[in-house]
Amino acid sequence: MRTALTAITDELKRLKATGVKSVSVSEEGMSVLRRVVAARLKETAGHNSEREISSPPATRLPVSAPVPAMPRSVVAKTELPAEPKLPAPPVVVLPEGDKAARWNWLGNLVLNHPVCTENIRPGKKVVLGVGSLDAKIMFVGEAPGAEEEIQGEPFVGPAGQLLTKMIGGMGLKRADVYIGNIMNWRPQTPTPAGAEQIGNRAPTAEEMTFCLPFLRAQIEIVNPEVIVALGSTAAQGLLGAGSFKALGEIRGRWKQFAEKPVMVTYHPSYILRNGSNRSKRMVWEDLLKVMERLAMPVSDKQRGYFLDK
Ligand code: URA
Repeated sequence: MRTALTAITDELKRLKATGVKSVSVSEEGMSVLRRVVAARLKETAGHNSEREISSPPATRLPVSAPVPAMPRSVVAKTELPAEPKLPAPPVVVLPEGDKAARWNWLGNLVLNHPVCTENIRPGKKVVLGVGSLDAKIMFVGEAPGAEEEIQGEPFVGPAGQLLTKMIGGMGLKRADVYIGNIMNWRPQTPTPAGAEQIGNRAPTAEEMTFCLPFLRAQIEIVNPEVIVALGSTAAQGLLGAGSFKALGEIRGRWKQFAEKPVMVTYHPSYILRNGSNRSKRMVWEDLLKVMERLAMPVSDKQRGYFLDK
């Protein structure tokens, strides 16, 4: 415990020296910290201080358990140094060729791009979109999380499993659509060397601007009929930061990006956190609008999802 606390303190000192002014910590991270501090107080005060700290009971996950979805909006807002860290966004000019050849070319560019590879931790992967290159629907999320950077595929963690179910509800398979992200790497949070990152942070505007040409290129290749922006960060990445104040203002409305209609809806991780039928129904109504726009068949059963409870 003492070693863990010293490592955290050293890391905070190091960040302070590099100009970072504040770091906020995810609920999961806070729970770990509370336990560390409680144990430290116990050592020094010689009595059980857990009551004073009111630490929630620690949850032990089996080693093979899927990493739980972290609420990005609740998680780290790290103040980064003011100087831009990234170079100008890349100019991506796709070569001539069929969709598969162009997508392979893009994959080679993105997965080996020095800025992308510099922004991942050792052993982790840069992530490009996946799915059908003939998809009519392209889902766009925020950024890879813990599972995605391990597997190198978007939406394979808990939020991804829910997204796959949503796609199933539309009468489609995951392989029928294209799934991408605004970001091609998992935005890093201050993590002691060698430790696993806990939680996620929303990408900065600079990070999103850097990766956007890669997403534009995927849209150009796939040429979907509709884009579905999942959550506030995806909507900001596509429509521009500051184009809305709260997602509620624009969710369920048709917008435009790269000359494509964009339906904005909540991110599946929001549904995982707030599993109310009301929020599920809101997302479902947005997807019904997508199905109607594409003249997809909609059964009465589908039309009534999440109305009954
Ligand atoms: N959340 C996202 O926005 N994208 C992913 O790929 C996974 C989780």
